[in-house]
Amino acid sequence: MEQYTSLSSVQKDIKSGKLQLVELVNKYLERIEDKKHLNAFVEVYAAEARQQAVTVNEKILSGSGGKLAGMVVGIKDLICYQGHKVSAGSKIIENYTSIFSSTVVERLLAEDAIIIGRQNCDEFAMGGSNENSYYGAVKNDADNSKVPGGSSGGSAVAVQAGLCLASLGTDTGGSVRQPAAFCGVVGLKPTYGRVSRHGIIAYASSFDQVGPITHTVEDAALLMEVIAGPDDYDSTASQLPVPEYSQCLTLSEKKRIAYLPETLSSEGLDPEVKALTEQTIQRLLDEGHSVEPISFPYLDYVVPTYYILTMAEASSNLARYDGVHYGYRSPNAVDLETTYKKSRSEAFGAEVKRRILLGSFVLSAGHYDAFYGKAQRVRRLIREKTDEILENHDFILLPTTPGPAFGIGEKTDDPVTMYLADIFTVQASLAGIPAISLPLGKTNNNLPLGVQFIGKRFGEAELLAFSKYLLDVTKAH
Ligand code: GLN
Repeated sequence: MEQYTSLSSVQKDIKSGKLQLVELVNKYLERIEDKKHLNAFVEVYAAEARQQAVTVNEKILSGSGGKLAGMVVGIKDLICYQGHKVSAGSKIIENYTSIFSSTVVERLLAEDAIIIGRQNCDEFAMGGSNENSYYGAVKNDADNSKVPGGSSGGSAVAVQAGLCLASLGTDTGGSVRQPAAFCGVVGLKPTYGRVSRHGIIAYASSFDQVGPITHTVEDAALLMEVIAGPDDYDSTASQLPVPEYSQCLTLSEKKRIAYLPETLSSEGLDPEVKALTEQTIQRLLDEGHSVEPISFPYLDYVVPTYYILTMAEASSNLARYDGVHYGYRSPNAVDLETTYKKSRSEAFGAEVKRRILLGSFVLSAGHYDAFYGKAQRVRRLIREKTDEILENHDFILLPTTPGPAFGIGEKTDDPVTMYLADIFTVQASLAGIPAISLPLGKTNNNLPLGVQFIGKRFGEAELLAFSKYLLDVTKAH
């Protein structure tokens, strides 16, 4: 069977009678089995997906299918789906079943998407390699000795390896964009507040966003138009109307793009990533766009600022896993205090503990001003400078990651090196603005590479249209 990479081709073949949706679902289920070694899925909903496929197939044929009819989607194990388990890649809620669905899941189902399973991720989305999962590391399908990126590693690999057509991940500091770059697919982090977080397990609430991972920009646009928008259950979801992203994918004019010279001279930037970024700049110039260097003097501060703030927020968000309300309770506990201590000590992984400890430290009375207060002020500077650049430019171009996918185990002993690898993704997260990673190249060893574009606040439509244009132009060469 043909390996589908876009919803439009799936829908076309179903309409013409060439394809039955249930066959396609079976194909994905077979591939999930064949590629079990990748460890992309934590759980597969085989029977349900087959059943839904029969219904949706009929709807497509009768012309009553929703916008996502025929789209087989996987969801990160952080996204609640009523009656299904959700564990955030953690032992602490390993056996927790969602009592309601997240808004994004409700919206997917309302438009006839088929949810095929939940996908492996770093514990509570804390990580950039998917090695912090209670269910073990995930492998990159381009090279099984490499990581897929994280924290939405399972979600990106599932699309890369053809285990589903699209995934929903979450991005706090790069967790959709970085694995998308490592796996050669498209990953979009929307503007903060564009997509409801109702029913999404929280990591750092002033950053978290849900975002699509797809082969094509068209499918990312479709998913966005379905999941975005106001939500009575999430007061941080913006009231701004949602454009029909999939209908505004044509680029109407030449664009003004800024690139940040500091990113290209940054220490540890891989020469192949640098070359691809420079080639992309050259291509855009050749196509008649304006691309100019604009200094961003805060690059050295983005990673420390991001980690101080997210660890602080995480330490507060994760206080709810106390062994009392729900989730794991230590069998060795004898009173309230040992219930807290032992349950949390026994069921959180090392990285999550590190962040809870550091987050509690930066919020503690004696250190609050020096760390948390200061980081908030620096965040504001970063946001204002970034907004200022975007007042005069449509987009900011920068690499998604300093290098291609690294080896499994290569950075696990050195958390700071792991954190520093987020240097290019956290700027958009701190500023709360949209950013997309596009699969624009490969290394000599055939590892995928991404280039990132940051857009204006709530400028997803322009960012998506430009992304489609750039992928098309690059393909044509
Ligand atoms: N790697 C970053 C971190 O560990 C980003 C994670 C994310 O976006 N969820 O925090």
